[in-house]
Amino acid sequence: MNSLMMDSQLTITSIMKHADRLNGNSEIVSVTADNPNHRYSYKDAFRRVRQLANAMQTVGFKPGDRIATLAWNDYRHFELYYAISCSGQVCHTINPRLFAEQIAFIINHAEDKWVFTDPLFVPLLEQLQERLPAVQGYVVMTDKQHMPQTSLANAHCYETFIADQPDTFDWPDLDENSPSSMCYTSGTTGDPKGVVYSHRSTVLHSLVASFPDAMNLSANDVIMPVVPMFHVNAWGTAYNGPMVGAKLVFPGPKMADGETLTRLINNEKVSCALGVPTVWLALVDYLNRSGETVESLKNVVVGGAACPLSLMKEMDKQGVRMNVAWGMTEMSPLGCCNTPMDWMQDLSEQEFDVQRVKAGRLVYGVEMKIVDADNNELPWDAVSSGTLLVKGPWVCSAYYKLDKPLLDKDGWFNTGDMAAIDKYGYVTITDRVKDVIKSGGEWISSIEVENAAMAHPDVQEAAVIGVPDPKWTERPLLIVIPREGVEANKDSILQSLQGKIAKWWIPEDCAFVSEIPHTATGKISKKDLRQQFADHSLQ
Ligand code: AMP
Repeated sequence: MNSLMMDSQLTITSIMKHADRLNGNSEIVSVTADNPNHRYSYKDAFRRVRQLANAMQTVGFKPGDRIATLAWNDYRHFELYYAISCSGQVCHTINPRLFAEQIAFIINHAEDKWVFTDPLFVPLLEQLQERLPAVQGYVVMTDKQHMPQTSLANAHCYETFIADQPDTFDWPDLDENSPSSMCYTSGTTGDPKGVVYSHRSTVLHSLVASFPDAMNLSANDVIMPVVPMFHVNAWGTAYNGPMVGAKLVFPGPKMADGETLTRLINNEKVSCALGVPTVWLALVDYLNRSGETVESLKNVVVGGAACPLSLMKEMDKQGVRMNVAWGMTEMSPLGCCNTPMDWMQDLSEQEFDVQRVKAGRLVYGVEMKIVDADNNELPWDAVSSGTLLVKGPWVCSAYYKLDKPLLDKDGWFNTGDMAAIDKYGYVTITDRVKDVIKSGGEWISSIEVENAAMAHPDVQEAAVIGVPDPKWTERPLLIVIPREGVEANKDSILQSLQGKIAKWWIPEDCAFVSEIPHTATGKISKKDLRQQFADHSLQ
């Protein structure tokens, strides 16, 4: 017997067509390099997407071509997402914060044919262009008036590129398994690795990510992705926003600027915003200094790194609920979400705090298990901590052009994270495998020590790394940026950890710094810190 359902392909084109027809009046508001307040409707956006698709066809883009973007979050980047993927090419978003050498490596590895760039990154590309033999042309994402003088070969101005093109386009019928977009991750050892998403994986991820117990999105929402569009498709918001019909607010280059974020939230009535903890630390800091409030903001999806409880409590004071999400580039990115459950109302404040900082529960579609060093599955008892393995339709099965098998023999992908899972299915990320500190043969979770240290009133930011120790092999070192204007005392900070974490986890020493290095995606760069403190002797 066969099923009698239609065989409709799950494509990004279907999201675009639905949003164009049903949600055409929803707005997209952007900050761009050439306009701090650009606004138009989905209808306008998709009309320009069709013009862009015509322009791309005119200059000879072919199905399967990789087309790179080096850009912040704004409406032109949004247009590129749809024009590239829906006409059968692969939208390759690149992180412009990476080192120039890494960007060149990534463009060459992906064999990108064209590069669309914000004006800001033109000098960088000028410097690199001789090393990018496969690139046939560049389009600068601006208008004629702001088009910079450039030595880039075959350079076009975006607005001129699309200006005279017809606003109708015959979208091809795409196979749902065809590649739609790609993103390189440097969260692995060695060179950055390419993750290739499909139309199907993108649509399925968007559906599930919108669920009430995931990102909780609806047509009534105003969504502000503060996570960059070059980092796992802004966690999918450029797709699930149009899918549900929400208004979108793109903050452009001013991602971590508390004042800009506050202005956008209040002017545009943002109800849901997404980003890494660093961004929300900046927002809270600005709100505390200015006395301003963010009345409309109810739901902040925070992920990419563990969210300190102290930050959640600061946001509570603003009436904002921080909902932790966990995932990774290889997972499109969503794996787990932590949204409030009715049963949590019966917990004491302390028990609730324990629960809310967890990475959350698995969303439908992804499977997971934790295993020990011998690949034995560990129980979900909140205590056993092991390597976290996942599988599912939006989890990558191989890295681009890397022959080495990525999955184990049963098809599981190793996330490189260590986790414990409680009886309710709530996951706690105990560490990244390469960040774990091994002391006397036992693991220390740097994340938990950092979270505990962050609760001290004098601590602005904290990081913990393992430094060599003759007796224990490694011991933790706490590195702290003190809050501005305070005379921080290391004994007081180390003392405050007593009772919050295991005694033997308490760092031997605390070093004060004025800056903690971050990776291009906003995470603390443990690798850089380890180098910086390689010769540190514990007190
Ligand atoms: P990326 O691929 O750059 O998005 O990084 C994914 C990695 O970020 C994961 O494997 C985790 O190590 C880390 N990560 C993401 N979300 C969380 C979270 N909620 N808590 C702790 N670590 C996280």
